[in-house]
Amino acid sequence: MAREYQIEDYRNFGIMAHIDAGKTTTTERILYYTGKNHKMGETHDGAATMDWMAQEQERGITITSAATTTSWQGRDGKRRRFNIIDTPGHVDFTIEVERSLRVLDGAVALLDANAGVEPQTETVWRQADKYGVPRLIFVNKMDKIGADFYRCIDMIDTRLGAKPVVLQLPIGAETEFAGVVDLIEMKAFIWSGEEVGAKWDVVDVPADLQARAEEYREKLIEAAVELDETVMEAYLEGEMPDNDTLRRLIRKGVCNVDFFGVLCGSAFKNKGVQPLLDAVVDFLPSPIDIPAINGIDAKTEEPIERHADDGEPLSMLAFKIANDPHMGSLTFCRIYSGHLEAGAQLLNTVKDKRERVGRMFQMHSNAREQITEAFAGDIVAIVGLKDTTTGDTLCVPTAPVILERMIFPEPVIDIAVEPKSKADQEKMGLALQRLAAEDPSFRVKSDEESGQTIISGMGELHLDIIVDRMKREFKVEANIGQPQVAYRETITRQAEIDYTHKKQSGGSGQFARIKLIIEPNEAGAGFTFESKIVGGSVPKEYVPGVQ
Ligand code: GDP
Repeated sequence: MAREYQIEDYRNFGIMAHIDAGKTTTTERILYYTGKNHKMGETHDGAATMDWMAQEQERGITITSAATTTSWQGRDGKRRRFNIIDTPGHVDFTIEVERSLRVLDGAVALLDANAGVEPQTETVWRQADKYGVPRLIFVNKMDKIGADFYRCIDMIDTRLGAKPVVLQLPIGAETEFAGVVDLIEMKAFIWSGEEVGAKWDVVDVPADLQARAEEYREKLIEAAVELDETVMEAYLEGEMPDNDTLRRLIRKGVCNVDFFGVLCGSAFKNKGVQPLLDAVVDFLPSPIDIPAINGIDAKTEEPIERHADDGEPLSMLAFKIANDPHMGSLTFCRIYSGHLEAGAQLLNTVKDKRERVGRMFQMHSNAREQITEAFAGDIVAIVGLKDTTTGDTLCVPTAPVILERMIFPEPVIDIAVEPKSKADQEKMGLALQRLAAEDPSFRVKSDEESGQTIISGMGELHLDIIVDRMKREFKVEANIGQPQVAYRETITRQAEIDYTHKKQSGGSGQFARIKLIIEPNEAGAGFTFESKIVGGSVPKEYVPGVQ
C-alpha cells in the first residue's frame, strides 16, 4: 500500500458562510487555482461538482454536502492534498452544515466585507463552535461598495465573541482595492489585473499603510508569543520571534481554537485567493493535528479512541448519501483510522449489518477518479453499500467500533403529500424512503386517522426541495397540503437521550441503540416519554420500555 500524500499533508476543510457571501465564487476560484478546474463556471457542470443538483443551480443555493479532492503547492514547494467539504449556506439546511462539520478538520468562514457578520454566519459559527472546528476567516468582497475590513474585525469580536488575529490588511477598498499586506512577511501583494490568473507583484508595504501594518503585526506577535513560554520570555527581553516561529505559533493557536486568523480579498476579482490557500496549508490542521475521534467498542461498550493512523483498524463514518444520476447511490465516508481496499467486507456497527464495499471514487471538480485503496484522512465515495445511512460507522469486523454520532435536530414543520395518481402511489413510497435514508432530519409518517402521508422537515424550503426531488429524480407527481389532523404546536423544550442497552445474556456484541425522547405535556404538567430502537441487534421484546 502506498500513500500519494502523507497524512500530515492533508487538509480536510469546508467553506462556511451566510448565503451570498461568495461561497460558490470562492470555491470556484479555489478549484481553478488548485488546477483541477480550468474554466470558470465549470463547478456547475458535470456530475461530480460541488453543486451537483439541478435545483441548486436554479435556486442559487447549495443543498448537498459532497466533497471535492484537489491539491495545492504550499509556500515550501510541497503539494498538499485538499478535500473541500461543501457546507450549505441556507438556514433550512443547517443539518447539512452539521454533518459536514462533523467530518472536516478545519474551515474557512467567509464574510461579506460590506455586510459583515450576518445571521447565518452566526448560526454556522455556533455550530462550528460546538464541534470545536479550527477556522480562518476570509473577508471577501473587499472590492464592493461599502466594504469595511475593520468593521468586520470588530464584528468578529462583538457579534461572534471570537478573537480575531489579523494576518493581512487590505490595500485600498471598493474600486480601489488592489491587494493585501502580509503581516508576517511585511510585504504587499498587488494584483496587476482582475482576471483569473492575473499576476501579482510582491512589493514593500505602501507608506500610508506602514503604521497600521506595524500596529497589527504587533497584535499578531502578542497573540502568538503567548502560546510559548520560551518565545514569550525572549520577546519580553526584546527579542523578536522569526517568521517561522510566528507561523508555527499561529498554527498552534488556530488549531487549538484559541483564536482565528483573518485574511481578506475579493474572490470575484481574483485577489487574495492564492494567499488564502497558502494560509490553509500553514494554519489549518491536518488529521493528526486534531484530537483522536471518540467511539465505543461495539462489543464491550468501553470508550475507545481511533487515531488518524494507517496502522490502526479501519474506522470510518458515512456522512452523506447522494444519488448520482449515473452510478446510483453513493455513500460519502470519512476514514478516521486504518486502510480501506475496494471489495472489503465491513461491518456497519450501528445497523449490525455486514457491508461489501463495491467501487470507490474520489471526486474531483470535473472528474471522478476510481481508486482501489484509501487511507486515514481520506474522503471516499463508495458504491454498493446497502444498509448504511448517514451517521453510521463502518469498520473491520474484527475491531468493531461505533464512532461518535452526529447530532441531528428534530424536524419542525409538517406537510401532507398526496400522489396525483395511483401509479404514483407506490413510487412515492419508495422515493420517500430513499430520501429519508439520505437525510436524517427529514421524516415520513402515515397518519392513521386521515390516511395521509405526512412529511416533516426543517423548514418550508427543505420540504419544497424534497417534493421537487421526488418529481425530478423519482418521477413522482404529488400534491401538497396542510395535514388534516392538527398536529401539536411547536414543542417548547424537548430532550433527547441516546443510550445503549446491552442484552444481559447471550452472545457478545448484542446491544440496542435507543433514542429516548422526553417532551413536556401541553398543559405543562409532567412529561411524556417515547423511546425507540435506532440501532443494534437486540429485538425490541428484550428491551424494557421500548414501544
Ligand atoms: P454564495 O451564496 O455564498 O455561494 O455566493 P456566490 O458565490 O453565489 O456569490 C453571491 C454574489 O456575490 C454573486 O453575484 C457573486 O458574483 C458576488 N460575489 C462573490 N464574490 C464577490 C466578490 O469578491 N466581490 C463582489 N463584488 N461580488 C462578489
